[in-house]
Amino acid sequence: MNKLIVVYGTKPQEMVRPALDRLKVKDSLSPNARIGIKPNLVVEKPSSSGATTTPELVEAIIVYLQEAGCRDITILESSAIGHSTKRAFSVCGYEELASRYGVKLIDLKHDRTQTIKVQGLDLCVAGRALGFDYLINVPVLKAHCQTQLTCALKNLKGCLPDDEKRRFHRLGLHRPIALLNTVVRSSLVVVDALCGDLTFEEGGNPVPMNRIFVAYDPVLADAYAAELLGYEPRSIAYIRLAEELGVGSADLTRAEIIELQAGERTPALPPVSPLALELGRWVEERAACSICYGNLLHALARLKENGSLAALPEKIKIGQGFKGEVGSGVGVGSCTVGLTHNLPGCPPRTREMALFLESLTRIRKGN
Ligand code: SF4
Repeated sequence: MNKLIVVYGTKPQEMVRPALDRLKVKDSLSPNARIGIKPNLVVEKPSSSGATTTPELVEAIIVYLQEAGCRDITILESSAIGHSTKRAFSVCGYEELASRYGVKLIDLKHDRTQTIKVQGLDLCVAGRALGFDYLINVPVLKAHCQTQLTCALKNLKGCLPDDEKRRFHRLGLHRPIALLNTVVRSSLVVVDALCGDLTFEEGGNPVPMNRIFVAYDPVLADAYAAELLGYEPRSIAYIRLAEELGVGSADLTRAEIIELQAGERTPALPPVSPLALELGRWVEERAACSICYGNLLHALARLKENGSLAALPEKIKIGQGFKGEVGSGVGVGSCTVGLTHNLPGCPPRTREMALFLESLTRIRKGN
């Protein structure tokens, strides 16, 4: 059965090992394998911006690989059009990381390319991205203004030269992204959902989600990511297309999803970015866990997107401070189970939260 492991926590060095062990990753590794690690360093901004992969997460993966005897490890990236990969390696902490662990860094921007025809479309891919025995895809969980979501499947766009990235945009992104994943294959996906972004791949509205999730199947990882942002997975065209092309399965109901906790749950911090602050005005929070609060912010972002946010009947209650409280009100999470309108779960999934809140707006609108 297709498996996906979620680990809640804040310290990657405590989260990566249990996740990879549950997937038996060591059994899939050969010490002689040429291993590529593809983070998301789309721009020259630190991971706290919500835009880029946390270097401590990649560090924990490298430690795991080196303990398994793997020595040939390379971090690869081609940052977004108009951005310098070399500067991103430096600003995001990867230059220092590479020298500390003796791993290679390669900038794919000016790599010799290979053209591969798939379903009638010529894809021009950085040659060295095709030369690994085992590719570990380490995207950041982010919403995206054009494709709604960017996670594992879209992260491989960073294996293209800039001209090809431009062409992908002209082609509408979805089909070429799905096709690209039939050419550059992810062997393992480790999603950085420690702090992603609410709306934009270049960061600016970071939201702590305090979790990672790991799967062999990039389509399954993206389907889970879509739900985590409040979307129906197959409503995102490139997820549906990648599934049709046999890259993997978006069927979360047929996957085994295992949730683990590393360390104590952390309390939610007050929102800081402009959008998170705006959404936070719809929340009444008392000692909420950060993972629950993060899910709620993404659910509210979906309501804002579809124009129903203003139709919410009242503020949404969340947090352990509501335990034992009985009475009228709207709450999400098992802590608010005593309220008249409640969505249980600890934490409830974002997609369920979005559907629950939308149903309340429909009651209010009288539909
Ligand atoms: S429902 Fe669970 S995750 Fe949410 S605030 Fe309560 S204890 Fe935390």
